[in-house]
Amino acid sequence: MSISIGIDLGTTYSAAAYVNPQTGIPEIIPNPEGKKITPSVIQFINGKILFGSEAEEAFNEGASGCAATFKRSMGTDGIYCTIGGKSYTAENLSSMLLKYIKDYVEAETGEKIKEAVITVPAYFYAVEREATLRAAQDAGLNVKKIIDEPNAAAMSYGLNHWRENANILVYDLGGGTFDVTLIHMQGNGELQTVVTRGDHFLGGRDWDNRLQDILIRKFSDETGIDFHDEPESLRIVRGMSERVKKQLSRITSFEVSADFPNYGKASVDISRDEFEAGTSDLLRRTGDFCRGLIDEAGIKIKDVTDVLLVGGSTRMPAVSNYLAEIFGKKPLAHVNPDEAVALGAAIQATKGNEEYVGLSVIVKDNHKVTERKNFLGLVKPERKLTGLEVITLRETTAHAMGMIAVSQDGTRYINDIIIPANHPRPVRAAKAFSFRTSLRGNNEMEIYVLQGDKINPLENLIPFKYTVTGIEHKSEIKGRTIIKVQYTYDTNGIIKVEARQDNSTSNLTVTREHVPEDISKFSRPPEKIEAKPQNLNLVMAVDVSGSMIGKPLDDAKQAMCDFIEKLDFDYTRAAIMAVSDRTETVCLLSSSKSRCIRAVNSIECGQTGYENETHPFNEIESLLANEEGRKFAIVLADGVWQRQDKAVKAARMCNNSGIETSGIGFGHADEKFLHDISSNDANAIFVQGSEDLGRAFGTIAQSLGGSSEIDGGGLTGLQAQDVQTWES
Ligand code: ADP
Ligand code: MG
Repeated sequence: MSISIGIDLGTTYSAAAYVNPQTGIPEIIPNPEGKKITPSVIQFINGKILFGSEAEEAFNEGASGCAATFKRSMGTDGIYCTIGGKSYTAENLSSMLLKYIKDYVEAETGEKIKEAVITVPAYFYAVEREATLRAAQDAGLNVKKIIDEPNAAAMSYGLNHWRENANILVYDLGGGTFDVTLIHMQGNGELQTVVTRGDHFLGGRDWDNRLQDILIRKFSDETGIDFHDEPESLRIVRGMSERVKKQLSRITSFEVSADFPNYGKASVDISRDEFEAGTSDLLRRTGDFCRGLIDEAGIKIKDVTDVLLVGGSTRMPAVSNYLAEIFGKKPLAHVNPDEAVALGAAIQATKGNEEYVGLSVIVKDNHKVTERKNFLGLVKPERKLTGLEVITLRETTAHAMGMIAVSQDGTRYINDIIIPANHPRPVRAAKAFSFRTSLRGNNEMEIYVLQGDKINPLENLIPFKYTVTGIEHKSEIKGRTIIKVQYTYDTNGIIKVEARQDNSTSNLTVTREHVPEDISKFSRPPEKIEAKPQNLNLVMAVDVSGSMIGKPLDDAKQAMCDFIEKLDFDYTRAAIMAVSDRTETVCLLSSSKSRCIRAVNSIECGQTGYENETHPFNEIESLLANEEGRKFAIVLADGVWQRQDKAVKAARMCNNSGIETSGIGFGHADEKFLHDISSNDANAIFVQGSEDLGRAFGTIAQSLGGSSEIDGGGLTGLQAQDVQTWES
């Protein structure tokens, strides 16, 4: 048989639990020392690696070769510590600790571990979650899920104390972190996280440091020792602070003794009152978080049904007293704050997986959730749930997730939020961004993922950058394309990014990259994509076969001259060709408008023969081959040409070398042929009579007028819109 376990991978202490298959009750699996919690400390000594109380004591005494509190650095690539010439990242160290836990669980239970659920603080960002996942995989654990610590605690509490419509505030004060979460107990055993907040740098260690300061003051008054000058004495006080703190949770005052190197034995009195007075501001900081959280949830203090204490630091009596003052009731004492998280994870480990939910909130101002399910209702009396299967956990996104985009007015970069904070997860949402491609550019779009809901992108965490490649340039829409970006926040709180172009049903290639060091460009106004027209090289080839005699050619010449009149010759050069049995270049690329008009007017019917034996595309290609800028050829045809197949092939060659082609026809022209020689359907124009040619050229003029938008590439004044999501 194999078992599924839950692991609370804490900053200071870790624990493992499983649902005992005999009893169906979640229980902690003790470590080799018979203890229910294991210090998250590793000691490297004489080529050996030690865990447990030995490592903890060594660390507390300031011994070298110890690694602790590495959880705070999860997700950072840097070396956390170098011991004995070997370097370790926080992820390596977590992995070693998890391996230790895995081994003792298997030894203690005599079972192989099938799957594990690992807990992380609710406010952990995607990178930290990913690092945790990898650490567990490296330790040889098959990770079923990563869940949030407060949710795990609420699960273990809820099992025995289910109350429909109850709002449970989970107050988790650990060794290095503080986390507060509002969880709603719905009907049918569903736990829903409502809002969560936390402070990465507030925890028991801060209380230790304050106590250390108090003790140093007292001992130096008593002994005259200058602790600045005596590192050994300082280490002694540092080593005792945590123990003294814990003692003060049990008794209100006592005598603390120490033996200092250059002084000898000394003792001072310490009282809980003194300790509490010296740390009250820390406690108030946690209170401010609670009030902010309640505000954000849109409820009142009185709507909080119960306060659940989690984390070893909540054993300090001041915590309960302070929270009782705020909430008008004593916090619950039903769960063991050291064990609740691991027990809840064990419950989750025995349950099924959740399904994706669609984005169902309304987002106002692009960053605030305005509509939330009303979760106030009559709180039903407490009852025991009948089994593990009945608890369903609905976790939420602790942070909003967006991407860097240009504001609608084009003046600045903003955080365009795709998934708001505090939304049930797993969730998938997509937005459409308008993106301009260029004909020759490599057409890559950069996605900078943001976690956080500050509008200024640089005030958020930027965990990843992605590059989207393979975006197709479509000249018929002047390179204006829609790129849909889809974010998936999975059940583990890990992010996946996908992209699609226009209505395509396949994903573009999305590659994750390191976020560049210098991203200061996003604090400056976006570069304006200048409306300056791009240089245009234009060839106009007109059919001068016999069928054009008289009015048709006169109309064609008139239409061409009108068209030339409208072109801006500061940026344009035009060439004129006559084509029938041969092709003759009447005027090479010229930037003189009058010269081009004269050339058009000089064209005569039959000047290159009266049949249509050839096509002009070879000449067009060789004329434009080495030109810079936009290249465009208009071929005006009347009737059917003898070698249309050759013309089509040659036209394709032109297109392949970056020349856009347009076939204009009238009278007896072959419409399909016009399409075949045009680089896109919009460029193929058929009109009934020659008198309508002016209109045909007008259409081309319009599409050429947009030439300024062809180049550039990049996000334009983004009008991002929510769009339908797709299956990954
Ligand atoms: P984490 O989840 O961050 O690993 P824990 O929830 O295990 O942390 O809590 C560890 C913290 O709780 C430490 O700072 C420890 O000193 C503190 N702690 C444990 N027991 C007590 C106690 N009886 N009184 C005061 N603080 C305690
Ligand atoms: Mg904890």
